Amino acid sequence: MRTPIIAGNWKLNKTIDEALAFVRDLKPALSKAANVEIILAPPFTALSVLAEALTDSPVLLAGQNCYPEQGAFTGEISPRLLRDAGCDAVILGHSERRQLFGETGEFINRKIRAALKEELQVIFCVGETLRERQSNQTFKVLEEQLCEGLTDLDGTGMARLVVAYEPVWAIGTGQTASSEQAQEAHQFIRNLLASLFDRVVADNTRILYGGSVTPNNIAGLMAQPDIDGALVGGASLQAESFLQIAEFGKG
Ligand code: PEP
Repeated sequence: MRTPIIAGNWKLNKTIDEALAFVRDLKPALSKAANVEIILAPPFTALSVLAEALTDSPVLLAGQNCYPEQGAFTGEISPRLLRDAGCDAVILGHSERRQLFGETGEFINRKIRAALKEELQVIFCVGETLRERQSNQTFKVLEEQLCEGLTDLDGTGMARLVVAYEPVWAIGTGQTASSEQAQEAHQFIRNLLASLFDRVVADNTRILYGGSVTPNNIAGLMAQPDIDGALVGGASLQAESFLQIAEFGKG
């Protein structure tokens, strides 16, 4: 019922030539990853060339961030310009943006609403730190981040929004959440969406897991009823491992 998504977040990696080489390696093997939506989030500089290189493929492109306004905001990028560069989606609320750049829930909510207005699909990231998990605050933190980020959204906006549960302690650490830990958080998020919106919205919203996903652990994660795909950092940088993840580890 919910088409799985495998999304690669390249962060601040890959020149234009490296990005094109990745796509050259990926494209011939794409038919192996059927019934999965594949999204790549390269650095801004590679977006428009990748959009051209991917015109005849089902792979979608995402920005890694955006600013909620247009105009005199030196160094920022707007949803409209992401669209213009060939993006279908944007990642918002990533823990690196929250932690390193001080993004608040209110600011992330403004970005989400601006991106939805431009009809971009939003991959909205939430997740607890290790300290928060160890002090039994995981659900409280998830609830706060979701309530703030989804303020003033309705069912139409939610139809374009994907949640990514990314425990901060699992990002880039090699320490994946167990399938059971991830499922518990995903089920909590889905139930919260039912109470914030309704059961239909909750059942239709895709919830991705992110945090040290590899070809070796994807199958266990995808076997969970509330895990609808993955947001992948490190393992998305090589076409081979990314493709194996898109095949749920079968490759
Ligand atoms: C991420 O940064 O979104 C991420 C999940 O990274 P990694 O897969 O490297 O943990």
